[in-house]
Amino acid sequence: MSDENGYIKDEEHFKKIQSENKKYRIFEISGKMEETGALMFKCKALKNNNLCGLYFFRSLYCRNYPAVNYDFIKNGGTTLDECGFYFDVNKKFKEYIK
Ligand code: SF4
Repeated sequence: MSDENGYIKDEEHFKKIQSENKKYRIFEISGKMEETGALMFKCKALKNNNLCGLYFFRSLYCRNYPAVNYDFIKNGGTTLDECGFYFDVNKKFKEYIK
């Protein structure tokens, strides 16, 4: 089941989510985070050169990334070190308009 932060922590729950919404069927479980017990996922469409194998057919979910809801960041959500995106919520408005 998922915890209060919305993390998916077991395979059964993940399979249920996939059966209810096909956009999640492109992902497979790749491991589990030690600190939180949350499952980690990888995309079956990601090629060895780190490019998307379905780029022109990717879902809206992918097209909108990294537009995430604020709760994700507030609850400590972050991107992997290898990701080109990151969240910086400590910037002041003036720093963005420079
Ligand atoms: S953009 Fe492509 S490789 Fe990345 S998660 Fe979406 S489908 Fe997978």
